[in-house]
Amino acid sequence: MTLNRKLAILADAAKYDASCASSGTSKRDSVGGRGIGSTEGMGICHSYAPDGRCISLLKILLTNYCLYDCQYCVNRVSSNVPRARFTAEEVVQLTLDFYRRNCIEGLFLSSGIIRDSDYTMEQVVEVARSLREDHDFRGYIHLKTIPDASDDLLARAGKYADRLSINVELPTTQSLHALAPEKDSAGIRRSMARLRVHIDNARDDARSAAQPATASTSRPQTPPRRAAAPRFAPGGQSTQMIVGADATDDRTILTASATLYGSYRLRRVYYSAFSPIPDAARALPLAAPPMMREHRLYQADWLMRFYGFEHHEIVSAGDGMLDLDIDPKLAWALAHREKFPVDLNRAPKELLLRVPGLGVKTIERLLQTRRVRRLRLDDLSRLHVSLKKIMPFICVLDHHPGRTLDAADLAQRLRPPPAQGGLFDAQSADGAPTSGLAGASPHSGSESASTTSTWAALPEARSVPFAAAHRVPVPTAPSQSAQARSAQARSAPAQSAPSQSPSSQSRPAQRAPVAPAPAQRGLFDDAPPRRETVAA
Ligand code: SF4
Repeated sequence: MTLNRKLAILADAAKYDASCASSGTSKRDSVGGRGIGSTEGMGICHSYAPDGRCISLLKILLTNYCLYDCQYCVNRVSSNVPRARFTAEEVVQLTLDFYRRNCIEGLFLSSGIIRDSDYTMEQVVEVARSLREDHDFRGYIHLKTIPDASDDLLARAGKYADRLSINVELPTTQSLHALAPEKDSAGIRRSMARLRVHIDNARDDARSAAQPATASTSRPQTPPRRAAAPRFAPGGQSTQMIVGADATDDRTILTASATLYGSYRLRRVYYSAFSPIPDAARALPLAAPPMMREHRLYQADWLMRFYGFEHHEIVSAGDGMLDLDIDPKLAWALAHREKFPVDLNRAPKELLLRVPGLGVKTIERLLQTRRVRRLRLDDLSRLHVSLKKIMPFICVLDHHPGRTLDAADLAQRLRPPPAQGGLFDAQSADGAPTSGLAGASPHSGSESASTTSTWAALPEARSVPFAAAHRVPVPTAPSQSAQARSAQARSAPAQSAPSQSPSSQSRPAQRAPVAPAPAQRGLFDDAPPRRETVAA
């Protein structure tokens, strides 16, 4: 089999992990010599660094042969897909070739399980070793580790990789047992714990190495230098869970994530919406969950990591699912109106973090500004805050929401306006895939990467999860901010006048529940999440 053919198969197999920034847009290519560029090619995916840079990774599997029969995976042993396998040298050569051509800035390597876990892991580690030691490769490397691999192999992987990840695959042990009986949830968590110990030890060593050693008595002016501590996966570890392959609700998923963050100090938990696969077991759903569910889970995850929310606060009582129409922070604010309005000129940071429409960076800027003067609505406009979203929940020098906060139809007013139904709504609304080979990927996860020369400064990147790569292609949706601006423009006269009626800071806890607005599904309802809308 030629290298090109292998690349086509194994890059395609890895697309289910893929986090391509171009996913969700219309399919275009330059086959036939017409035009330039493509939104369909596999193998090189794009991830976003926190500073907004788009970075490219060669995302491939070492092999898509696998001994296991995980029901949700297109590469399971019983799946009828073309198979291929790279040698470690071939992956090294491909990485170097792409890097030299400036096509990529790093490697994301995963694999099906061949022979046994240790053998597979050895091959994966050998790729990273050869890149680092034989070729002095200084780009980014993310390795998917095989859960049952020996501790020695994990330690070696961490020596060469910037980030390691082990997939928990499914949110509960019961689901994993039912859909991937060969996998052992205890083994997965044991490997995560081992990685955490290695990462913690490496950080402690690095901290000690940074301390000046005892000064030499013979030359007191020049403190002796310590040797640099050995590095271990400076980008930390991450994991991925598949959403919608079983009946687990969002509350349970977020509880599982909170446990993972707390117990193993993960950098990220990635959520990947399940996609139906050919010849699937009857236990699997026929349709994919809405992409918006995945997006809401990411937003809820953000709330837990950056906004001080506890996982049990985010999903309201009921069916245990996040509201698909509004983001979780807004849903929380609507359900806890007694906590609002928040005075932006006086409230502590913890309270500001609870205000819908205010992001972490915006809050930092507001805190800086209010040190020198009182905040007004103009200040929020200058920071590009959505006034429509925020005004019912805040007071500033020239605005108080008054009775707006008590309005029974407030939730309805803040929901996205109904949109004209599109030709392909029936297909996109239930998330039905167009690709017959759509499926979850082996040991897969979304990617984050950095190309900074300092590995230790690796950022966390938000990337569009793998399932987005095989959804019904839809035209690029207008950004939420654009929608919010147009909605705001329509309602501007009513909102621009500050309310004159004073309102108490403390409000009764009980409010009438607001029924969801029966909105018609729109063309972009299931458009994959866009990075800029993830932060609540
Ligand atoms: S998820 Fe991994 S172990 Fe399971 S069948 Fe797919 S490649 Fe094999």
